[in-house]
Amino acid sequence: MAYDKYRKDTTNTVKANVPEGVDVTNVEFEGPYVVIYTKTLEHFADDGEIIRRLAQTLRRRVIVRPDPGQLSDPSDAEEAIRKILPAEAEVTNIWFDPAIGEVTVEAKFPGAAIGKQGQYLTQIKKETRWAPEVQRTPSIPSKTVGEIRAYLRMSAEERKDILRKIGRRINREVGDGENWARMTTLGGFREVGRSCALLSTKSSKILIDCGVKFGGQDDATPYLNAPEALPLEQIDAVVLTHAHLDHTGITPLLFKYGFEGAVYTTAPTRDTMSMLMIDYLKVAFGEARKAPYDTSHIRKMVLHTIPLRWGETTDIAPDIRLTLQDAGHILGSSSCHFHVGDGLHNIVFSGDMKYEDTWLFNRTCDRFPRLDSILIESTYGGYHDFQPTRREARDNLKEIIVRAIERGGRIIVPVFAVGRSQEVMIVIENLVAKGDIPKTDVFMDGMIMEATAIHTAYPEFLNTSLRNKIFQKGENPFLNPIFNQVENSEMRREVLTMPGPIIVLATSGMLNGGPVMEYFKHWCSDPQNTIVFVGYQAENTIGRKIQRGWNELTLSDKGKQITYPIKMQIETCEGFSGHSDRKQLLEYFRNLHPKPKTVFVGHGDEAKCIEFATTLRKKYGLTALVPQNLETIRLA
Ligand code: ZN
Repeated sequence: MAYDKYRKDTTNTVKANVPEGVDVTNVEFEGPYVVIYTKTLEHFADDGEIIRRLAQTLRRRVIVRPDPGQLSDPSDAEEAIRKILPAEAEVTNIWFDPAIGEVTVEAKFPGAAIGKQGQYLTQIKKETRWAPEVQRTPSIPSKTVGEIRAYLRMSAEERKDILRKIGRRINREVGDGENWARMTTLGGFREVGRSCALLSTKSSKILIDCGVKFGGQDDATPYLNAPEALPLEQIDAVVLTHAHLDHTGITPLLFKYGFEGAVYTTAPTRDTMSMLMIDYLKVAFGEARKAPYDTSHIRKMVLHTIPLRWGETTDIAPDIRLTLQDAGHILGSSSCHFHVGDGLHNIVFSGDMKYEDTWLFNRTCDRFPRLDSILIESTYGGYHDFQPTRREARDNLKEIIVRAIERGGRIIVPVFAVGRSQEVMIVIENLVAKGDIPKTDVFMDGMIMEATAIHTAYPEFLNTSLRNKIFQKGENPFLNPIFNQVENSEMRREVLTMPGPIIVLATSGMLNGGPVMEYFKHWCSDPQNTIVFVGYQAENTIGRKIQRGWNELTLSDKGKQITYPIKMQIETCEGFSGHSDRKQLLEYFRNLHPKPKTVFVGHGDEAKCIEFATTLRKKYGLTALVPQNLETIRLA
């Protein structure tokens, strides 16, 4: 009842605060938004101030949508839109989403489609009643992005129901009494993998990350059976820092076991993690292992995901507000700031983060409005964890490639699909363009190109100089003709027999399966060839064994065990990490503003967590704690 009264009050507030002549037909809570339906969309369009003022009064994000009864027929609307938009916009696609009354125009030149002061958008609204959105045509089409958008459109009605349920939940009435906040550590403490923490208050429960830990007989999951986390359906929301599976891989399992709440993350994280999860299921199937969930749970997760932009503050529970900020680690990666209660506590979960400008991303955000405590990653927080800078990494890679090309051999670079591979591509492109290495064909095998395509679908999540290069100057380094996608096994066979020098970027990054194994098996016995490690090789992986200089390896090949002698050159090029090294972590704390009272150190091997916490205490006088998994700590 309290909710219905709140909704009625909100409707009255909206009606009282819009100018005369503005017709409000309905007001709904959809997810974290107040959605206003109107027959006079153009009034809102003419006066952008109305929405801003309403958002301020309601202390909620406000969206305005056309009343469904007013919309013109999509085919008539499309004809009208094509007439309105100038030819120089180069429209590539137009699609309609009747559930939210939105028409999306995909154009090569969005600026031209929007027009001066949005004149064409205003005209579309007036003539068709649809609410127009303009998207830039991605320079490399992504299958994943296309499929997810199509699926969301297809499931629009179901999604609306989900958002209204979530809206009802966020706006529920909560009891009086003393407020408190605490954190429970469910995974990724004194270890790397299965990152998961629970933030709970008197009224709400939020899960931050829900990852898998690879290795061993079975992949390990967070301690979701801890009494603090149960029952799962009482969790309000899951907030995901970034797409890597050690932070997200178990999220679909929550939906298998009754969780019905929202997942908050950035749109590129939603798309990238879906791609990685589907691949995770494929790999499990290929190895005849039982997967913890199936594709129906991934789809359910996608429908429950509410994408946020960096810097937007959103109510995700009756007493918790979330703001995502750039973490600089991979595409869409975020540090998550939670404002609990009315200033009761402010905590940041750093996620994996990079405090250095990279070729793809800006460095992580070091400014927050308020900050009482922070959970920081410490992958490279140990006393000796210093890494070369990006510039040094470029020079090292140049020398390694020059040596390998002089030998005339082939070069294998094992990479993860997301993050490092795009950086390696940019550096190779740059080395060729500057004439620092001879022009050499680069073949990419695995999901690298698809991951790259997702990057170009979200230019606003790239760093400023790369974005300008691609979209202002029209120079997309990923589209350089030196890059070739290995499309199928036939083409792979062809590449395998090619003479050097050629460069192959292939997944997986630690040689635990994936197409990289084929290249390694074929080329490892020839001393002319080179393998270059650019990423972290975890203990017990094949990558680590090769890097340590094993003379031979016994690998299974179509069911047979074959011993491969390793005579190829082994090189390691450091400095491509998406994690801050010790120097960068310390610099982050020097610049972090305001300074937190308490630091929780996690996401590192036990010794590194302890070493980094010790340094924070000694150097900055901070209270630095190193919780184990399954602790509950009172925050306020
Ligand atoms: Zn990561």
